[in-house]
Amino acid sequence: MKESFVSLTLDSASTLRAGAFGNATHLSCRECGATRELGPHYACSECFGPLEVAYDFGQVTREQIEAGPRNIWRYKALLPVPDDIETSPNLEPGFTRLLDACNLAAELGLTKLWVKDDSTNPTNSFKDRVVACALSAARELGSRVFACPSTGNLANAVAAAGARAGIPTVVFIPSNLETPKQVNSAVFTESLVAVDGTYDDVNKLASEIAGEDPGWAFVNVNVRPFYAEGSKTLGYEIAEQLGWRLPDQIVIPVASGSQLTKVHKAFQELIALGLVEDKPYKVFGAQADGCSPVASAFKAGVDAIRPVKPDTIAKSLAIGNPADGIYVLDIARQTGGGVEQVSDDEIRAAIVLLARNEGIFTETAGGTTVAVLKKLVETGQLDPDAETVIINTGHGLKTLDAVSGSVGPRATIAPTYDAFTAAGIA
Ligand SMILES: *Cc1c(COP(=O)(O)O)cnc(C)c1O
Ligand SMILES: [Zn+2]
Repeated sequence: MKESFVSLTLDSASTLRAGAFGNATHLSCRECGATRELGPHYACSECFGPLEVAYDFGQVTREQIEAGPRNIWRYKALLPVPDDIETSPNLEPGFTRLLDACNLAAELGLTKLWVKDDSTNPTNSFKDRVVACALSAARELGSRVFACPSTGNLANAVAAAGARAGIPTVVFIPSNLETPKQVNSAVFTESLVAVDGTYDDVNKLASEIAGEDPGWAFVNVNVRPFYAEGSKTLGYEIAEQLGWRLPDQIVIPVASGSQLTKVHKAFQELIALGLVEDKPYKVFGAQADGCSPVASAFKAGVDAIRPVKPDTIAKSLAIGNPADGIYVLDIARQTGGGVEQVSDDEIRAAIVLLARNEGIFTETAGGTTVAVLKKLVETGQLDPDAETVIINTGHGLKTLDAVSGSVGPRATIAPTYDAFTAAGIA
């Protein structure tokens, strides 16, 4: 089994076309800095630390980006994708709206608040961004099967992207997942596999399959370094949509922690490339009480993350052993931000709060983010006068059960004017 993995490495390295990964030059270990050639590798051969894509960007200008398409490929020079990426069928995610959330800002006592609304991506979550980058890697590496272990949204995005690209997909989910998220995968793929276990169990199974059969590209396992880079586009878009500026504060939900670390990486790249002015900003992470290993470590002031068994309505954030948790801690501490947690009841209330103030129906992950924003303001951790961005990562129609008990008809009446007046609505 080890042998077949090694032979894939050699094959793919020798058959890679020039420019298969754009300006990316190699993979680099986040722990020890050891380097490795671009390929389906995710762990450092020296220390088993996580690998990350490294680049030689050369010159990238605002004008060049602004002339690109209104999707993530406008940033293709900053991603591990080929220059002709737009010619391969894909879902063209990204360039979602940055909404001036003036009503919610007033409600919470904030001067300026923006919602980066990723619920409007093709499969209604930010996962379309990461999957588009993983798909490109899978294509360039000649993978036969496009797959993932998922807490729901990722399975939706992989199944849909594979359908559009004409690559067979197999998606694995915990069997207790919300029905809408199951259906949203099953419409796109014949191979939705429900596993009796937690996400962490599903993830372990995926790693085992990836080790046995090198033809499988598991987006968040063996092509994870390429997948993860897709989240940088959230950071690029926020900066561009603010008029090539960085916000003062940003609140991001944390599952594996990949998204948060990559938004920070994006901001750092923009500064290094001279595309935005260098300035301090604070990064805050949001978790649910029922799965808060990173928030717990942050508050305890420790460096190690103690894995937990998740139990929360925020299932898209229910990763008990988050791969990038320690990097989230570093970034929160370095930038003067933090990691907070909220209860399921606070999450439900925050979903309704955002909906009634801004007309945005978010899923439980977004509810977690809005509830954490509220808590950060109330506890004085977030400066109410500093410009703040929150990321809405998914759509409420996928987690209807979370709020179906707390909202519903105000009255059920007979179709007569008398009944209407008797109900006391007007
Ligand atoms: C996957 C997911 C996240 C968190 O992503 P990580 O990069 O694993 O931290 C947040 N929100 C939604 C809706 C998601 O599906
Ligand atoms: Zn290493």
